[in-house]
Amino acid sequence: MSQEFQGRVALVTGGARGQGRSHALAFAERGADIVICDRCADSDALDYPLASEADLAQTAAMVESLGRRCLSVRADTADKAAMRALVQRAEEELGSIDIAVANAGVTGISMLGEHNGELWDEVIGSNLTGVFHTLAAVTPGMIARGYGRIITTSSMMGRTASPAMSAYVSSKWGVIGLTKAAAVELAPHGITVNSIAPGNIATPMVMNDSMYRKFRPDLENPAWDDVAPVLAAKTHLLPIAAIEPEQVSRVVLFLAAEASAHLTGMVFPIDAGAGAANSA
Ligand code: NAD
Repeated sequence: MSQEFQGRVALVTGGARGQGRSHALAFAERGADIVICDRCADSDALDYPLASEADLAQTAAMVESLGRRCLSVRADTADKAAMRALVQRAEEELGSIDIAVANAGVTGISMLGEHNGELWDEVIGSNLTGVFHTLAAVTPGMIARGYGRIITTSSMMGRTASPAMSAYVSSKWGVIGLTKAAAVELAPHGITVNSIAPGNIATPMVMNDSMYRKFRPDLENPAWDDVAPVLAAKTHLLPIAAIEPEQVSRVVLFLAAEASAHLTGMVFPIDAGAGAANSA
């Protein structure tokens, strides 16, 4: 495997599982040292479990088994002080953060009139404010070193809309706005900032009982096999129910590459064609 990221340090938020774990391993396989954080706690506002401390430790062990260093810290991206402390520690222990993947996020479904404040605050806090705190924490060091590759995780819901998803849709449209604002601000410093817009990805955010019930309210105990045909038919253009996290990591690696120095402020869909019908 090419060691194209040797000598670089990559931060991945929400690195305990799912896409974040996949991104961390993809960078480690290609020579980068890794910093991961995750809140490792469930939220009362959400109806599916988030990652655990054991998940975070497992990602760290997987990175280390590849021969790379891994700083893993329990931290909530919505906590500004925690993110600043994480980056300071990473820069002290590993020297720098050269690549930052602002991946941590949550989802929740509610009609507007039934929305409780908690869900809105949770989704905006983790998905938008959390990305802001991540960028705010890493950019001073990147500016000082004159180098940085930042990738934010939006969603296909960051370019379109769906009923009962006002908080998620707002947060992910916001991530694209934040990405473009950061790209404009940081371009003179040699720092690129791009966003990815995944479709349905095979992670616990989608693959959980609560989500299965929402997609198949007609069944008493729906499972993934009941939901997959619905997702394949309704969301993606290509007949693919869920894209593997490793396919998302391929695009993250591309955007973080040295050779992608000319790409900034852009949104890259990984959505089996979902965006083709509704965006330029
Ligand atoms: P996931 O639930 O498996 O992983 C998300 C991780 O983020 C979990 O480990 C969770 O504990 C962590 N996390 C959540 N809030 C956090 C916070 N405030 N601080 C620190 N860690 C936090 O889901 P995933 O699919 O891997 O999600 C990764 C990103 O991709 C999210 O931003 C999500 O919105 C986005 N996304 C997912 C899909 C999908 O279909 N799975 C589609 C489009 C976009």
